[in-house]
Amino acid sequence: MSRKGTPLYRFWRYVEKTSGCWNWTGHKFVSGYGSIQIALRKVRVHRFSYELHKGPIPKDLQLDHLCSNRLCVNPDHLEAVTARTNNMRGNSITAVNARKVACMHGHPLSGENLWVNPKTGWRACLACVRNRTRAYYKRKHPHAREFRSRWKSLEDSKCNLSSARHLSRTASFAATAEMQ
Ligand SMILES: [Zn+2]
Ligand SMILES: [Zn+2]
Repeated sequence: MSRKGTPLYRFWRYVEKTSGCWNWTGHKFVSGYGSIQIALRKVRVHRFSYELHKGPIPKDLQLDHLCSNRLCVNPDHLEAVTARTNNMRGNSITAVNARKVACMHGHPLSGENLWVNPKTGWRACLACVRNRTRAYYKRKHPHAREFRSRWKSLEDSKCNLSSARHLSRTASFAATAEMQ
């Protein structure tokens, strides 16, 4: 292999060093990360750079750009972290969710009102979940409340019917007793 074909040559050829970031000017993945072909495989170039300068990346770790510049290959701007830490640092939905102290309706995301999905770590407001369930039920059964109250008054009137009869009988007894 000629010197020009080596991964190292192809790497440095597309690196534009600044006092801060080392910008990658070569090919990019759709994700916005730089790509470089190593032994027929396209790999993310910031990973290549990290391994080149700092050594292999542990299997369970991800590389985090401390500078948030996806095209930066400066090893000093890269840190191997767990997937969760990486997520927390970013502005992903999970990360924003993890930092929230209140839901969008202002209920506190703590104590009794906080529900955490044990699998994903997603935090939800129980008050809002309850409201949503109630609203959903109302939408699905718009006449439920009316039906329930009518049913109840029907039940009441049934009881009242017999007790009313009973009452009127005792009342008339009382009345006749008084008259005598
Ligand atoms: Zn950088
Ligand atoms: Zn809420």
